Amino acid sequence: MKTKLALGNLVVAFCLFLATQLTAQELGLHFKKIQDGIFTYAEKVNDPNCTIILTQDGVVLIDSGNNPPDSLAVMKAIKQLTPQPVRYLINTEPHSDHTTGHFVFSPPALIVAHQGATDSMKKAFNPKRNEKLMAESPEMRETFKGFRLITPHIEYRDKMILNVGDRTFELYYLKNVHSESDSAIWLPKERVLFTAASVSVKRFNNLREFVSIPDTLNAIKMMKALQPEVVIPGHGTPGTVKILDDMEKYYNTLLEQVGQMAKQGKSLDEIKKELKIPGTEDWEGKDRYPNNIEAAYRAVKEK
Ligand SMILES: [Zn+2]
Repeated sequence: MKTKLALGNLVVAFCLFLATQLTAQELGLHFKKIQDGIFTYAEKVNDPNCTIILTQDGVVLIDSGNNPPDSLAVMKAIKQLTPQPVRYLINTEPHSDHTTGHFVFSPPALIVAHQGATDSMKKAFNPKRNEKLMAESPEMRETFKGFRLITPHIEYRDKMILNVGDRTFELYYLKNVHSESDSAIWLPKERVLFTAASVSVKRFNNLREFVSIPDTLNAIKMMKALQPEVVIPGHGTPGTVKILDDMEKYYNTLLEQVGQMAKQGKSLDEIKKELKIPGTEDWEGKDRYPNNIEAAYRAVKEK
């Protein structure tokens, strides 16, 4: 029994060693190696990031890829990396571009999200989205084989610590930053931070009516205080704390400018027409800029 266990540990250690030798390119075109045993996948720039994290006790996945073809590409990479199962799949948010592929991993993976994610997923679930995708091609239809809506098995409140193998995952609720239940995920030993969609990279976020810029600035402050070395946003190329700095600067400038213009008696429409924020000229998602101004306007009026 004892030797069997020791042998098992040896096999796992050897697989983890092999995994650290694999390059991101060997996994596929859209994988980036973040650190030993941590690989992020996004098929296109600004697709949701999906990250594979290897531990001695199995895989932890952060989100499940934009659509089932992406989830299957991630599953294929996991099989190259380790014979171990996906133990946990943590959702940074409940939207379908982060969660449709749950069925590829679960069971056996347990899905973890902040309280409210199940409700949000059930309410927003639209079979037409999947039907539309499946109609694109027989190959796409094939990837949906076995699809069912899988909502989180575990919902935490405010903060949760998950210890898997040698790694620790700290989950923090981010209030009013993007969806009904956004989570930042922090790996303190590795100094890797997942920000969810609270920030993005050179791209305007879609600030829905309940999204609050002051709450987002508080979330950024909290995340910066962790002093991350690697920052992996919900969408966009992984980078450093500069991602947080840039968004903080943008939101502060936006609040300041909208505040000044509102004080001068300008209407929301006038502000939308006149205000340009320097440094955002090359940002994507310009159609969302008006709702960014609306969010700033709400914030300065509430003050
Ligand atoms: Zn979203």
